[in-house]
Amino acid sequence: MKILVINTGSSSIKYELFDMTDEYVMASGNVERIAEAQSFLTHQYFPEPEKVVEKKESVFFKNHEAAFECIAELLKDKKVGPIKNAADITAVGHRVVHGGERFKAPVLINESVVTAIREHIPLAPLHNPANLKGIEIAGNILPNAYQIAVFDTAFHQSMPRKAFLYALPLELYKKYKVRRYGFHGTSHAFVAEQAAQYLGKPLKELNLITIHLGNGCSMAAIQQGRCVDTSMGMTPLEGLVMGTRSGDIDPAIPLYLADYLNLSLKDIDRLLNKESGLKGLCGENDLREIIKKYESSDESAQLALEVYTYRIKKYIGAYLAVLGRCHGIVFTAGIGENSVLIREMALSGLEPLGIILDDKRNHSFVRDAREISLEESLIKVMVIPTNEELEIARATLEVVLQHQS
Ligand code: ADP
Repeated sequence: MKILVINTGSSSIKYELFDMTDEYVMASGNVERIAEAQSFLTHQYFPEPEKVVEKKESVFFKNHEAAFECIAELLKDKKVGPIKNAADITAVGHRVVHGGERFKAPVLINESVVTAIREHIPLAPLHNPANLKGIEIAGNILPNAYQIAVFDTAFHQSMPRKAFLYALPLELYKKYKVRRYGFHGTSHAFVAEQAAQYLGKPLKELNLITIHLGNGCSMAAIQQGRCVDTSMGMTPLEGLVMGTRSGDIDPAIPLYLADYLNLSLKDIDRLLNKESGLKGLCGENDLREIIKKYESSDESAQLALEVYTYRIKKYIGAYLAVLGRCHGIVFTAGIGENSVLIREMALSGLEPLGIILDDKRNHSFVRDAREISLEESLIKVMVIPTNEELEIARATLEVVLQHQS
């Protein structure tokens, strides 16, 4: 079965076409800067595992429809397309950012699902409208394919109320849905499943802490395979220090900024989401640049890394307490998978808690899932590459099979 995974953003579409017989990526690509003066298209076709045929173009796409039409054409193009016609695609799996409390698992999209995603726009004003656009267009261009929605928030819906409720007037939750939702759920779910495979145990028997460190960063506490807490909140701003987001701060700080610096709500929103985090502390948000500065003894880079890794360490402590027994800690995403230094700083001093890093293993670089703790470490530390597209494709396949049976 061929499944197309789509991630539609406000000015971009990312896609990956899978042959689910062996989860082979047949083609992938993205279109950026849709509706801007010049859009960029990158398309890759993989006729066989080590072979890639690439097409890169600067073109103008006036809207998402035009971009998607071009993608559909490329997928069946004689030179760069892996399929003969659009009907070869059985299903489209859509990444949808916010499913609120309604969606605890991936679903087949129908009118009521579309309405519900629309109703959740206030909770994800930047993402859900774009995701809906992708759903509408894919439905028009591939009318015979199943359309499945896979939600970033769904994995975290198993959190108990003591973890998802804020200590605010309860009415704010009941009437206005103010609560912790959590994000990056697809990634946490994927690496948790991979960790279970790596450890050779059913996920249901494992307690794990998963640490996703990309541009956005979040952690999840997973008990017997189910998420029981996560660091992002009602929005992705809460929790860990990120590239440009502050993560946790005293909630009174915005009031202080408004009162004393006369900042507007919009200013504060930009400050916390775009000008804080690593960037706020040292002027850079790309970790590779920060590490270069750190290696040349730059004081602000040192400071940024200390604050960044101290926050991770604090959350590890908190989640160890939440879980009681923890079998494994998983690092994933751009920083988690690649940065020896961040893993080392975040875990230093945790030996008495049963977390003992193996320096040599931490330095070795293999693309696959691997262990970086010493044999005698009570809690296994693993590095597992995330693959959100594959997780969406697997979830999509599961829903299609349910509907076909
Ligand atoms: P996104 O959230 O956009 O998917 P990624 O998961 O790609 O982000 O992670 C981006 C981050 O990963 C950037 O801060 C980047 O510097 C960092 N990163 C990527 N490769 C490396 C590397 N080899 N060493 C250290 N950091 C890296």
